[in-house]
Amino acid sequence: MTARILDGLKIRDEIFAELKQEIAKLSAQGIRPGLAAVLVGENPASQLYVKSKIAACEQLGMASWMHTPPANVSTDYMLQLMRDLNADDNVDGILVQLPLPKQIDSKKVLEAVDPAKDVDGFHPVSLGRLVSNRPGLVACTPAGCMEILRRYDVPIEGANAVVLGRSDIVGKPMALLLMHANATVTICHSKTRDLAEVVRRADIVVAAMGKPGYVQADWIGPDAAVIDVGTNKVTDPAEAEKLLKNFPQRLEKFRAKGNVLIGDVHPDAVFSAGALSPVPGGVGPMTITMLMSNTVKAAKLRRGKAAVVGQ
Ligand code: NAP
Repeated sequence: MTARILDGLKIRDEIFAELKQEIAKLSAQGIRPGLAAVLVGENPASQLYVKSKIAACEQLGMASWMHTPPANVSTDYMLQLMRDLNADDNVDGILVQLPLPKQIDSKKVLEAVDPAKDVDGFHPVSLGRLVSNRPGLVACTPAGCMEILRRYDVPIEGANAVVLGRSDIVGKPMALLLMHANATVTICHSKTRDLAEVVRRADIVVAAMGKPGYVQADWIGPDAAVIDVGTNKVTDPAEAEKLLKNFPQRLEKFRAKGNVLIGDVHPDAVFSAGALSPVPGGVGPMTITMLMSNTVKAAKLRRGKAAVVGQ
């Protein structure tokens, strides 16, 4: 038996279709949701991420703007840019691509974003709303994991959910979302003892550790649903051979390309889990999807009750 595949690309297409309808309704009221992306410097990975976010806006018919200050800008410059974007009524969402260069105080910049436009969900006000289970903008990756669970009808209420990782952007918000959905949540980190035993008791496992293939297949029960957030680029041939020994086609691709994307869960878990989000093609596409969803939500909330549709 192999696990039911929790296909993030399929869910992305579903959500994009829904968003297109919402955007059309907003457009009939003269509102075009818009995202301003700020990319400082020329980090190739960040450039790629921002380009795909802008492309998603275009695909959905949303407005987008890209601000690309040079790598040597100051914190003050960034704070002024945030004030300008906060004041621009056409901008519904502000995205500051991380990491920022060292001389910039990232926390100060993120805190300068108007919480009403905080589509990344990183502002302390957004986090506070999440803690107290009030409506607001939730960090995109954990929100995307919840969409996968819900849209595949994975039972959450009463389930034992184990979250591996406690970062501010994935682990912590993920644990809160699961708790608000009435799961019994255990949060694990690098000091957790007997990780294998904790994971064995889980009905839902969310792995967000940044360790390729760390969660072993025999830790996962046949009824467990696994959400693998990890996106690790493996380039070491010996490591790739070990992780992919049961996947000759992927190994073939690795040999041709020199790298492969591996989650935090061992690929063999597809033979032991009840359900599994693959890497790539699971959580990955959901992050941009939820950014789009948050931008539409921000437009609806910020531009007044008259604009609120489908709520
Ligand atoms: P992070 O900030 O580095 O946090 C990693 C967490 O994992 C920490 O809480 C750490 O514990 C815990 N951890 C590390 N080793 C562990 C171990 N042996 N046992 C138990 N816990 C351990 O990482 P992140 O930003 O949350 O990202 C996690 C992964 O998700 C990365 O692979 C990242 O690339 C991926 N990611 C993917 C997306 C997406 O769109 N698909 C988005 C965001 C992140 P301590 O707190 O004790 O150090």
